[in-house]
Amino acid sequence: MHLDGFFAPCHGPDVATKTIFGKIIDREIPADIVFEDEQCLAFRDIHPAAPTHILVIPKRPIPMVEQLTPADEGLVGHLFYVAAQLAKKEGLADGYRLVVNNGAEGGQTVFHLHVHLLGGRSLSWPPG
Ligand code: AMP
Repeated sequence: MHLDGFFAPCHGPDVATKTIFGKIIDREIPADIVFEDEQCLAFRDIHPAAPTHILVIPKRPIPMVEQLTPADEGLVGHLFYVAAQLAKKEGLADGYRLVVNNGAEGGQTVFHLHVHLLGGRSLSWPPG
């Protein structure tokens, strides 16, 4: 599917502004890091909403889903693959939730794309 040029240019948050997650990647602030490779970093959420609450983030500072390009398709798949491996490691055999909050109304507060891995309790639906 060719989506290039289909959408209007995005005027999302500035990539040049380093977020708190950028500072975690650069080891400027501490985090409980559970996994790292060339493409991504995973660490425990500082305000866990479930017994397991891990954030999986790309090392490249992509603010929002809108800034993804066709070249990022593999990266997004990798974030989900890493989340699934971490869920296994955390013993979440009965299920878990992967969440991407996108934009202010989507509940995004840190403008560096991230996947929440939530598990270890029964999660209700729909979210608030
Ligand atoms: P979102 O609201 O989807 O943008 O998620 C941002 C998440 O980052 C929230 O769940 C926060 O609790 C979490 N968070 C913010 N600062 C830190 C930090 N320094 N270390 C770990 N998690 C953080």
